[in-house]
Amino acid sequence: MREKLASVLFGGSCFLCRGAARTLLCAQCNAELPRLEDPLCPRCALDSPAGAICGRCLTHSPAYDATHAALSYDFPADALVHALKFRGELALAPLLAGLLAPTVRSLRIDHVVPVPLSAERLKSRGYNQAVEIARHLRSDALELALCERTRDAPPQMELPYGERQRNVRGAFRCTRSLDGARIAVVDDVMTTGATLDEIARTLKAAGAAHVENWVVTRTALHA
Ligand SMILES: [Zn+2]
Ligand SMILES: [Zn+2]
Repeated sequence: MREKLASVLFGGSCFLCRGAARTLLCAQCNAELPRLEDPLCPRCALDSPAGAICGRCLTHSPAYDATHAALSYDFPADALVHALKFRGELALAPLLAGLLAPTVRSLRIDHVVPVPLSAERLKSRGYNQAVEIARHLRSDALELALCERTRDAPPQMELPYGERQRNVRGAFRCTRSLDGARIAVVDDVMTTGATLDEIARTLKAAGAAHVENWVVTRTALHA
């Protein structure tokens, strides 16, 4: 992994197209990233006419209050997220965080909480990609021990939303009281939002007044 990182960092070539670049991505690949564009639902960051709260959020109000997302989970954003999560390309963390930072930098937040991995998963992967991203967003407010994952849910990808929700119920635990705190929860990708909903529910049960999601990428939902 060290050699790979070194080649990415110092090889002078773009991580995506391998063309000449002085930064991780060349200017053209950077310009072509699938940035999310308004109007979006302020609650869940999915398309919503006029930027109103979407029907989905009105019908099943999530426990989180807002979502900020930078990119849509399409190529090549999905490739970047995948390389950070599964291939140890940690040099991508500051790049991905940098895409989200302008949106969230000035928001009033007391604590930044990366979505935790279970101790077991953390041990096998060696790092938590959400922590690596959060470090480059607001290291001054970063809280690594405030929320714990008590168990791994079975793989979520192929489950419908209702089952995903049941799957993560009670999977998180808050380690202290959060009287009135405003909290940002950081992750690399938001899919159905079931995990983030459960974390927000857990944080609010511990007294948090406001919980919002800071996610690098957002998948479009196919109903
Ligand atoms: Zn490129
Ligand atoms: Zn919504």
